[in-house]
Amino acid sequence: MEEPRVTEEATIVGSLVQAYSICPRQAWLMSRQVTPDEDNVYLQLGRLIQSQAYARERKELHLGHLALDLIRREGKTLVVAEVKKSSRASGAARLQLGFYLYELKRMGIEAEGELLFPEERYREPVILDEDLEKEIEGLKKKIWALIYQPLPPQPERGKFCGKCAYNEFCWA
Ligand code: SF4
Repeated sequence: MEEPRVTEEATIVGSLVQAYSICPRQAWLMSRQVTPDEDNVYLQLGRLIQSQAYARERKELHLGHLALDLIRREGKTLVVAEVKKSSRASGAARLQLGFYLYELKRMGIEAEGELLFPEERYREPVILDEDLEKEIEGLKKKIWALIYQPLPPQPERGKFCGKCAYNEFCWA
């Protein structure tokens, strides 16, 4: 089988930032477009929640390499929201949204972020302050270094393996 390669135009996208924050191996597999089992129930559940929750204000927007779940105006403020099925990986979700805010700022668009957990009826604001900006810059460098490695990091069992779409790929 031909070894999957990172293409010249490979771009770091939000889902990669989130995956890296959960597990670098997951990010590497995702970067090579290794496709997890399409029938993975957790992926289906995530899609279902995304399509149903907040339906009234839902307005997905593709902006360059960014796929934003929801975007709305609150007075003069642009709010970008990311919908997640659980707050279990809220740290990774915060970095994913921070990445969107960072990339938007580079495009000249100032925005604030909001994480939405509809099943838990919970929302969390995310502001791109200096610390978060530095964190995102560091993260992007680490992700670049990772995805140019010829082989993925070895799997390491962690609390996210159970519900990870690559579970069978790592542990079968
Ligand atoms: S199953 Fe575990 S080790 Fe494998 S990619 Fe998922 S989180 Fe990482």
